Amino acid sequence: MVLPRRLPPAFRSGRNWVALSILAPLGMLAMCGLMLLDLRRDAWDKAEQTSKNLLQVIERDIARNVEIIDLSLQAVVDNLRAPETLAASPRARQMILFDRAATARDLGVMLVLDENGDSILDAATLPARKVNNADREYFQAHKARSDLGLYISKPLVSRLTGAPIVVLSRRIDKPDGSFGGVVLGSLKLSYFSRLFDRIGLGQDGGINLYLREGTRVVRHPYAEADIGVNIAGTPNFDRFVREGSGTFVGTSVRDGVERHYAFTQVSTFPLILNVALSTREIEAEWRLKAFGIAAVVLVLCGLTVALSLLFGRELRRRAEMHAEMARLSRTDPLTGLANRRRFEHAIARAVEDARRTGKPLSLLVVDADHFKRCNDTYGHAVGDEVLRGLARCLSASVHRPGDLACRVGGEEFAVLLPGTDADGALSVAREVHEQVSRLAVPSAGIGAGAVTVSIGAAVGLMGGTDAAQDLYRRADAALYEAKAGGRNQTRQAVPVGAGNGAGRVAA
Ligand code: GH3
Ligand code: MG
Ligand code: MG
Repeated sequence: MVLPRRLPPAFRSGRNWVALSILAPLGMLAMCGLMLLDLRRDAWDKAEQTSKNLLQVIERDIARNVEIIDLSLQAVVDNLRAPETLAASPRARQMILFDRAATARDLGVMLVLDENGDSILDAATLPARKVNNADREYFQAHKARSDLGLYISKPLVSRLTGAPIVVLSRRIDKPDGSFGGVVLGSLKLSYFSRLFDRIGLGQDGGINLYLREGTRVVRHPYAEADIGVNIAGTPNFDRFVREGSGTFVGTSVRDGVERHYAFTQVSTFPLILNVALSTREIEAEWRLKAFGIAAVVLVLCGLTVALSLLFGRELRRRAEMHAEMARLSRTDPLTGLANRRRFEHAIARAVEDARRTGKPLSLLVVDADHFKRCNDTYGHAVGDEVLRGLARCLSASVHRPGDLACRVGGEEFAVLLPGTDADGALSVAREVHEQVSRLAVPSAGIGAGAVTVSIGAAVGLMGGTDAAQDLYRRADAALYEAKAGGRNQTRQAVPVGAGNGAGRVAA
């Protein structure tokens, strides 16, 4: 049979598999974490790029429209200074002062007010519609200061059209430099609504246009309550003003939502525009993906851990089984003592040790006397019981960790005594006789003293190459002497060199 190749030693260790079951998932989790962080950064980069692009497009559109209106206002101011304009007929004057820009869709009205705030010229009609705007903040501002240039008002409701507007105005000076009135053009807030209309910024996203002094001109998505609110002094607005343009993450004072703001000043005008995306929404798609990926990776990690632990446990179980099999292969099943195979290994090793250390090595060969008779009289089962009893007697007679009692044949035992000289061996032999003399099998009617053993003892002199066999042979010869001498006794082998075989009665 061709067996599959064994795993390399590193993979055979249960402990290594447990370590792997921890390290592999940790590695997977680390990789997954890095990947998710990368995806998150991508989501943020994308959001930042989107809001910057959007901001740029909107800013250009607003700047262009404000510039067109301002150019028209400047033209009116310049032309009013020319004597020809004042001399022209009302109709011709109308045509000179107001170009086509005045009819642009998002331009509400275009008026010239005199120094009292009364409308004197109107781009839409001749004669001018009657209205007095002397109370308006832009009128008061121009009246108070001559150097304002283009003035952009807070959002207000037009008195002529009723539409929400912002008013862009410039001062008209009399020839002597004193206040001569105001020219104004109004930009409908509906212009912004149309501009922002199709832009989707999620549920919590928004676009805001502020006057530099803090008043909100318009917000998308539109809510009436937002218009005209002043947020000057809030941390976010301070940053808009201080930095001019840029991006940052901040919490809105309006609704407490955390947003990513991309902001800029609109051209050179006193207007600040921002595009705000909710951070929660920026990460929403990523979060969904992250949950999915994390769930899959966690399941895979769990499986890896479970499989590795199971595999590790299986390896441990196999190792234990091997150890048990090895133990059984070295154990005598009837008595539980070491068997012949183990004895042979042990005596070979003991001989080696004795040779190396120079210490003596003793061997007792123990054989039950007339055991055949015992079997014949009481039966084989009782014989087995007696053998188990003898094994207990031998185990009880040896005390050192290196001592080993073995069953080497049917009713024949050996006791290996490393580091023990002849006196020690005889002392153990005496102990064996003593123990056996107390052995009884009451159920079979065998009383103490009925079972006896003969023992042959030999002390090793580790000279030759087959020292183990020599030692055994000499102990066995001594045992033979003990049998011949009447049994129930110990004979000690004559030391090597003092003749062959055995000799001395020891017990
Ligand atoms: P001696 O005093 O000369 O040693 O006589 P003996 O009868 O003990 O010697 P012998 O070698 O003639 O007989 C050994 C007997 O041991 C033979 C066999 O029936 C018995 N025997 C061997 N192995 C077992 C065993 O595992 N169980 C039992 N019950 N008896 C066994
Ligand atoms: Mg016998
Ligand atoms: Mg025998």
